[in-house]
Amino acid sequence: SREVQLAARPQGEPQHSDFNIVDIELPAPGQGQIQVRNLFLTVDPYMRGRMNDVKSYTPPFALGETMTGGAVGVVTHSEDARVPVGAHVLHDQGWRTHANIDAGRVKVLPELDGVPFSAYLGVLGMPGLTAYAGLLRTAEFREGDVVFVSGAAGAVGSAVGQIARLKGASRVIGSAGSAEKVAHLTGNLGFDAAFNYKEGPVAEQLKAAAPDGIDVYFDNVGGEHLEAAISAMHSMGRIAICGMISQYNSTEPTPGPRNMVQIIGKQLTVRGFLVTPHYDLFDTFAQEVGGWIASGELKFDETVVEGIDQTPEAFMGLLKGQNTGKMIVKL
Ligand code: NDP
Repeated sequence: SREVQLAARPQGEPQHSDFNIVDIELPAPGQGQIQVRNLFLTVDPYMRGRMNDVKSYTPPFALGETMTGGAVGVVTHSEDARVPVGAHVLHDQGWRTHANIDAGRVKVLPELDGVPFSAYLGVLGMPGLTAYAGLLRTAEFREGDVVFVSGAAGAVGSAVGQIARLKGASRVIGSAGSAEKVAHLTGNLGFDAAFNYKEGPVAEQLKAAAPDGIDVYFDNVGGEHLEAAISAMHSMGRIAICGMISQYNSTEPTPGPRNMVQIIGKQLTVRGFLVTPHYDLFDTFAQEVGGWIASGELKFDETVVEGIDQTPEAFMGLLKGQNTGKMIVKL
């Protein structure tokens, strides 16, 4: 197995020298195990946090050990009757080409017409559920809401905007980091308005895109975006704090929004969430979002990087916005 290990804890932006790629001899799988050859790996923003040596909701990656993360593989050897050779499985032994895994820890994946298996790492997997649960539960989305989502061209954000539209939002606004992404949001994904946050102050651009204000802000970015959203919120508005990617490479604590006092007068709900406790929604989510994908009402994009040796590059690219939709490594 060819595997990617964490060689050093990144200071600020991750560098190539923070990763080591090594070849490891895998033994035959033991009783109750399967061996998989990975087909697709995911790189996700939360992995940046796991590269720091700090206590968090997931323990840090160990130095000199192969990292973990979502992957889809095909079973090449099985010592458990429940998971046959040839099955496609979702599991957490990513950042490597092959793995031996306890059969009870994988999920056998159905093959869907016209949908690649990589979708189980994106729109039909953890990021898709994050969008669904974060919008519908955490932000308590209601029909008629005006919804603003940052990181809107990414895996989570593009699903948030489209789910909001399909559930009857009165207006959906997205922000992203390039003119191409902005054109894609309004041209292909059905956003009513979108802007490039690198082109001018977020507050001004949000005001132009949502002159009458917003009811829901789905935050993937933090910082200036969060401050702008607080100012644009209607009374009783709801903010779901999903991520703050603008801070993940910060080496110093970053200042909070300067307008937090508005949370009181507007009686806002600002609620952070993790996707983990929302897996009870998974079947409902998979059925509804799967249906919209099948009917073509919900679209998803992937940026595919090829080869295990390119995994660090894919991860670094993700943090720099080189992806539209889900960043995937294809082996
Ligand atoms: P994305 O596919 O959205 O990729 C990350 C994107 O972040 C990049 O494409 C880039 O797009 C954008 N970005 C990078 N730096 C900045 C910056 N300084 N300011 C604004 N945007 C920036 O990743 P995901 O969809 O997987 O994740 C989106 C967010 O959701 C992340 O914050 C992540 O941590 C969070 N998340 C939270 C979960 C939870 O359980 N709470 C679960 C899953 C994800 P651009 O070109 O637009 O800058």
